[in-house]
Amino acid sequence: MNQKYTKEELVSFLDAEKGDFTSLINKIPLDDEFITYSKNVFIPLTEICRNDCGYCNFKKTPEDDEAIILKTKEEVLEDLKVAEKYGCKEAMFAFGEDADCEEVVKNRLEEFGYENMTDYVVDICRMTLDETTLLPHTNGGNYSYDDLAKLKEVNASMGMMLENSSERLMKLPAHKKSPGKDPKVRLETIANAGKLKIAYTTGILIGIGETKEEIVDSLLAIRDLYDKYGHIQEVIIQNFTPTPTIEMNDVEPVTLFDMMKAVVVGKLIFEDTPVSIQIPPNLNYETAQVFLLCGGDDWGGVSPISIDFVNPTSPWPTLDELEKITKNAGYELNERLCIYERYINSEWLNDELLEKALSLTEHL
Ligand code: SF4
Repeated sequence: MNQKYTKEELVSFLDAEKGDFTSLINKIPLDDEFITYSKNVFIPLTEICRNDCGYCNFKKTPEDDEAIILKTKEEVLEDLKVAEKYGCKEAMFAFGEDADCEEVVKNRLEEFGYENMTDYVVDICRMTLDETTLLPHTNGGNYSYDDLAKLKEVNASMGMMLENSSERLMKLPAHKKSPGKDPKVRLETIANAGKLKIAYTTGILIGIGETKEEIVDSLLAIRDLYDKYGHIQEVIIQNFTPTPTIEMNDVEPVTLFDMMKAVVVGKLIFEDTPVSIQIPPNLNYETAQVFLLCGGDDWGGVSPISIDFVNPTSPWPTLDELEKITKNAGYELNERLCIYERYINSEWLNDELLEKALSLTEHL
């Protein structure tokens, strides 16, 4: 890792006060002209999850009458067809991790003729490729090397938040009931994606009990994986937003100033790479523009038709609104695919996915 700044310096940047912030912001190159986003549809295949994170707004229990136990292929295809009409190019399949550990999901999979969740997801992605113009992007948590190898053949790109690389959080409300949030396991999944040459999205969640050192360690861990495999296409810097119905409802929200500093530090760590820094616009809509001036250069997936099921109380801006705030900050809004342009080649994609991605590129 060819880091311009030491870990101690990066931590001190997160501690910067008003006066130091001016010099901090001057360190980042603000030479981006374009801010990107991917027009997607978010399809939660199941809301059942074996983890139980203290900040989760997504997971539902099997006893909840409204829980999505497992979407049928017909239901998924219906969602995809609507998305196609709206010009979406990414089918984002995000769902609870290892949901097939739960009896109710296992039984439903058996009913549908599948032994496990991975085989079902592979088939859903296959259907997406065969019957629609959309590119699959799966975000289903940790996977083994072999499962990732199967998913690679039917996904243009994949993703999973690292959240944080600190083992300490496994003892705190954030992750103490979530074996899948063990950072060793997550870092191994991301490394395996790199070995398999899967273009990958990851990121960190701020405000879940971590220290400033742990924020820097997490970003450096992602940078380390990028240096080894070159597969990290973007790093999401996301602030945890407490809501009344979750376990961690009384946690103090991250301040705007702390978020700004985290974005600057993220940018500095990846300054000499093409890796994007993504700030989801729905979580900070009122202040979203500020992050563009701190080094953010991507809004992530934004859907004209589905909600953000992970943050259901934070609606995505419309694409017109997104364009307006981007332009108003002095940038141009550009649509991208779920896989970034530099990965659209035969080193990263099989022939079928490459052909499809290239043909979609013509419609951006
Ligand atoms: S945050 Fe993700 S991994 Fe954690 S319980 Fe919710 S759905 Fe599961």
